[in-house]
Amino acid sequence: MPVRATKRGAQRTPLQRDCDVLVCGASFAGLAVARELSGSGARVLVIDRYEIGERQTSACGIPTSWLDALDLRGALCQTFGELVLHTPWTTARWQLPWTFSTFDYRELCALLWDQADLELTEFETATVTGRDGHTVHTDRGDLSAPLIIDALGWRRVLSNNKAIQPPEARLSRGLEVHPPGAGEDLELWIDKRYVRAGYAWSFPATDELRVGVGSFWPSHHVKEPTVRLAGDLNLPAEGYQGNWIPHQLRAAVEDGVFFVGDSAGHCLPLTAEGIRTAFYFGLACARELRPVLDGRATREDALARYGAFSDLHERKYRWLLNTQHAVGRLTPSRALTMMARGFARPRACAWAFNHYLAIAPPSFVGDGPSKNRPARARVPSPAAV
Ligand SMILES: Cc1cc2nc3c(=O)[nH]c(=O)nc-3n(C[C@H](O)[C@H](O)[C@H](O)COP(=O)(O)OP(=O)(O)OC[C@H]3O[C@@H](n4cnc5c(N)ncnc54)[C@H](O)[C@@H]3O)c2cc1C
Repeated sequence: MPVRATKRGAQRTPLQRDCDVLVCGASFAGLAVARELSGSGARVLVIDRYEIGERQTSACGIPTSWLDALDLRGALCQTFGELVLHTPWTTARWQLPWTFSTFDYRELCALLWDQADLELTEFETATVTGRDGHTVHTDRGDLSAPLIIDALGWRRVLSNNKAIQPPEARLSRGLEVHPPGAGEDLELWIDKRYVRAGYAWSFPATDELRVGVGSFWPSHHVKEPTVRLAGDLNLPAEGYQGNWIPHQLRAAVEDGVFFVGDSAGHCLPLTAEGIRTAFYFGLACARELRPVLDGRATREDALARYGAFSDLHERKYRWLLNTQHAVGRLTPSRALTMMARGFARPRACAWAFNHYLAIAPPSFVGDGPSKNRPARARVPSPAAV
């Protein structure tokens, strides 16, 4: 994919397009939807305020099996078979039953984009400002489509309900720096010296380290502890990236719109792992859109089925959120240190991590439609759906 800079000023000419599916947001969730619509025959328009892959939105760590399942290994930076957990009283090495990898954000986005049907899928830079019915307002004009996806992240821009505002909302906050450097271990710290409720991390990614702090409590600031952690690791605090992270599942459909990834609260509580879930729910959403594009189902059918699919995960998300609250309460007690030592036993670790992976398993990728299926009929106009 050519590296282009985001269009600015006069380059942002008025945008007018007819499309069957309008995907707002071109990060993990939006690109997964576009990829999974390949072969559906749908005209897909993907929009984002930045060029694809231009702004990294996370530390980019994921179970390696998800990279393989989506054929994204080309973006892999480094792979880890264990997690090193530090508490004030111990350092435990957890042998994972599967590996975890860091990846290059720009490269991964480019590889995912290449999996979309590039004859029928277009990308434009545009900033979304709101929505009325099936018309999305952007800084380059209004766009209408019968099928609209909000993959715009935690702000849930296409919702017309009360705006989600930190620090009161159910959001965690995360910040990291990306200094040049190298490391062998995937490291976590649960230590109130860095954060009262949450964790700190260092993720090596070939020639840089992604070092940061996440707080489960939105009112607690993370910049000073991030700088301090970098200092403790003898690293310069440079290359900041951070964001709010929803830690509670939200409605995945609202007022005729599909919400995927952070906009639907699909990031997992406790671990703040939201990339594979953005992929998982993005694939699930696209699979519900395909029968609508075929004329075999209505938009309302797809909304009901996708909403129900997301809701099915509520119990697991609630369980993780309760664990997040417990870890917050237990930090910095010795009970947490005992737990850290407990999971150093390979059987306990395998049991916990296999259950955790099963919340959004990589096998889900293979359950989808095969690529390059013959083109299908166009979706009916909004009025007819
Ligand atoms: C510091 C930090 C580290 C993290 N590390 C990890 C990690 O290692 N592993 C992991 O699994 N998860 C991690 N997460 C969580 C993960 O980043 C998110 O859950 C994930 O990015 C959600 O993907 P998404 O596609 O839903 O949203 P996003 O990745 O946030 O993408 C939203 C897209 O919408 C665009 N957009 C937003 N508003 C507008 C607008 N108004 N108009 C047009 N475009 C807009 C943005 O430019 C962006 O491209 C981390 C989060 C933080 C904050």
